[in-house]
Amino acid sequence: MITDVKSLVDGVLSGEPRSLARAISVIENHMPGWEQCLEQMYLHSGRAEILGFTGAPGVGKSTLVNAVMEQLLNMGKKVAVLAIDPSSPFSGGALLGDRIRMSKSMLQKNAFIRSMSTRGAMGGIAASTWDVSYVLDAACYDVIIIETVGVGQVEVDVMRGVDVCVVVLVPGMGDSIQALKAGIIEIADVFVINKADRDGANALERELNMVLSLADSMPKVEIVKTCATSGQGVADLLRAKDEFRKAAASLGLKQKKRKDFARSVLFQQMSSLILAEIMAIDANDVQIEAGVERIVNERVAPLIVARDLVARYKALCGSSLYNLQKGFL
Ligand code: GDP
Repeated sequence: MITDVKSLVDGVLSGEPRSLARAISVIENHMPGWEQCLEQMYLHSGRAEILGFTGAPGVGKSTLVNAVMEQLLNMGKKVAVLAIDPSSPFSGGALLGDRIRMSKSMLQKNAFIRSMSTRGAMGGIAASTWDVSYVLDAACYDVIIIETVGVGQVEVDVMRGVDVCVVVLVPGMGDSIQALKAGIIEIADVFVINKADRDGANALERELNMVLSLADSMPKVEIVKTCATSGQGVADLLRAKDEFRKAAASLGLKQKKRKDFARSVLFQQMSSLILAEIMAIDANDVQIEAGVERIVNERVAPLIVARDLVARYKALCGSSLYNLQKGFL
């Protein structure tokens, strides 16, 4: 039971590790007081640099993120990594020692690594990841790295919210560029060709350059070659992401990206709140199940059934959504 949101928030803001862990679990598990806690965390966030790393399994994302994390820690930064891994169960702090070759005291003070699984993510994995990032941001982590397996829509959606999205490729994975989904190409701010110690890195770079010259995006998307296992190229990657950030800020794109992302999150949150309200007045899902029957057995189009159910909801509310909207605006 959470009794004192204020002392929990104060603990997080002063960087107290136990409060940080507690706040994350209160928010993630929607424990009592979670909304006030989240509100405070969000209020105190917005300062951290958020980096996204995505790419197919096996390209070396974790190894690369570890190398990046080590360099940033050596520069005196506080760094957090949230690895979205739909397959793995929660693994918490035990990962730290395995992933990073650094002294324990430094790790405990300045580093945080967490694997986010779909299990237990009450508002969906994307929402849950962002909620945890607000806590870390409020706790004064300088850099928050979100690592995803770049395959699904959820991962692409998460990446739209980061300041710099790094897409990791490797040579020799067949038609790697063709295999990339359009969404992934679109969200890439920096491309990394990892495992550059292997044959084919230059050919892949040429291929990628051709694709990028067609896209002609602003700021220019850089390609960086790395060998994550030796750390080669990691400094170049950090330089490339800093340059991207500077260019994006001077073009006003950082603010635009944050607003676009906020708008899409707002729409998602409003849709789920409205849906929750409709569901709440339909005890035991009687209407929903009747609607499902109509769709499947009576071949009534889902759009028509949805309209009927929303109309019923409006009638029950005694006010049309249009009027609600006018009052709202
Ligand atoms: P992830 O699934 O994308 O997170 O990939 P991992 O970081 O787990 O790496 C997959 C495998 O590739 C591991 O055996 C790494 O040691 C290896 N690996 C990662 N980076 C490099 C690299 O730059 N060169 C080579 N040769 N192997 C690498």
